[in-house]
Amino acid sequence: MITNVPRVVIVGGGFGGIAVAKALRNTPAVVTLIDRNNHHVFQPLLYQVATSVLSPAQIGSPIRGILRNQQNTTVILGDVNGVDQEQKCVVVNKDDRHEDRVPYDYLILATGVRHSYFGHDGFARFAPGLKTLADAVAIRNKILQAFERAESENDPKLIPELMTFVLVGAGPTGVEMASAIATLVRSTLRSEFRHIDPMSARIVLVDIAGRVLGTFSERLSDKARQRLERLGIEVRLGQGVDYIDEDGVIIGNERIASKTVIWTAGVTSSPAGKWLNVVTDRAGRVRVENNLAVPGRSEIFVIGDTASLDQDGKPLPGVAQVATQQGRYVGRLIHRRLVGKSAPQPFRYFDKGNMAVVGKGFAILESGKLQLSGFLAWLVWAGVHLEFLAQRSLRVSVFVQWVWTYLTGARGARLIVKHHVPPLTEHEPRVQSESVAASAGQLNLTK
Ligand SMILES: Cc1cc2nc3c(=O)[nH]c(=O)nc-3n(C[C@H](O)[C@H](O)[C@H](O)COP(=O)(O)OP(=O)(O)OC[C@H]3O[C@@H](n4cnc5c(N)ncnc54)[C@H](O)[C@@H]3O)c2cc1C
Repeated sequence: MITNVPRVVIVGGGFGGIAVAKALRNTPAVVTLIDRNNHHVFQPLLYQVATSVLSPAQIGSPIRGILRNQQNTTVILGDVNGVDQEQKCVVVNKDDRHEDRVPYDYLILATGVRHSYFGHDGFARFAPGLKTLADAVAIRNKILQAFERAESENDPKLIPELMTFVLVGAGPTGVEMASAIATLVRSTLRSEFRHIDPMSARIVLVDIAGRVLGTFSERLSDKARQRLERLGIEVRLGQGVDYIDEDGVIIGNERIASKTVIWTAGVTSSPAGKWLNVVTDRAGRVRVENNLAVPGRSEIFVIGDTASLDQDGKPLPGVAQVATQQGRYVGRLIHRRLVGKSAPQPFRYFDKGNMAVVGKGFAILESGKLQLSGFLAWLVWAGVHLEFLAQRSLRVSVFVQWVWTYLTGARGARLIVKHHVPPLTEHEPRVQSESVAASAGQLNLTK
């Protein structure tokens, strides 16, 4: 057994964590990557899974597969729920039954963010957010089920609320989701139903901010809004959602009846700051030094969406490029320390630009002084996203799928995937029916 080789533990196999692991492939260290999921997710395309363009396997890659050629790296499936800084180990819950402690010499926390309902956690039951593959499949089920229920609804008064989709938050996810639902209706569903007209679906995008895609220039943001409106989306800006329940949302004095509300508004950091008991910003992100180490802890690094770092007086955004560049930087820093080389210069983010898709064949793009909108921007968007998918096989599969969907409007991933619990029969012994009911209840609770 190797005892004196430094142990590097990475928590999180997202953009940041994978980048660190890859940067350490030739480092004389034992690297352990821990994630609660067995796969890395390409989050920028989650909305395409939620709207049936792609299937989950086209944007998710098994972490073991990504790192299979890295002999110094072990992958552990487990949920980290604490860091013991004195003993230098992370506390991992491996299978909901037993806790394990994984020792480290260097620790990198790259655990991302989760949804924030701004103190209204009860909204989560009625307005799911989009962060994981499971979220995307749940939202896909919800959208497709709404159309199915409308098709078989006998009371015509109930059909409009089944065919109303409300998206709360007009950032990139809200805009991309709203326009993708509009495209789904127009190009795929329009000819498939006999009792309803999918084209009559109402899509409402609400945000308290005064414009959509607030991180883009006003000109591009305006182009995006015009495009959304052309797609038939009702864009309601400067209006906050006051309440969400199973019947829809309340905005001021108005109720919008809807059976499908999707939360695309806020995020909050993972609890990494609590594990370390260190200073965080208002969103709970850990304040880090300019080499991404936690102040006073040169062996602990926090990167990606979980970290808070200012550059030129502004906080770095929570985007994949920041997480990836920070991951590569920390990998290089640890490598240099371990091979006795000098420390690299402080971390500096190189911003390659910002993009968002607004429906079929239309995107906006901002990079330095360059501002583009329309089909050309969409082609660049498509090329960049293909390039950054984790595996070559996924690039080919997503490319083929996009071309097919673009040309035909067909979306093969239009599946409602549910767990069906068989109904109990009258003759089943009482004892058995109770245990079946109990396990059915458990399934519902854990979904
Ligand atoms: C819907 C959506 C669309 C987006 N679109 C874009 C876009 O177009 N362009 C862009 O640049 N960025 C986009 N982003 C943001 C981008 O995805 C994030 O900035 C990026 O994923 C951050 O990387 P990360 O490594 O910090 O965290 P993540 O990629 O979120 O990875 C965190 C990892 O940590 C694991 N984890 C979390 N907690 C634990 C725990 N307790 N124990 C074990 N494992 C844990 C998670 O399973 C996950 O694998 C989007 C995000 C979302 C949700």
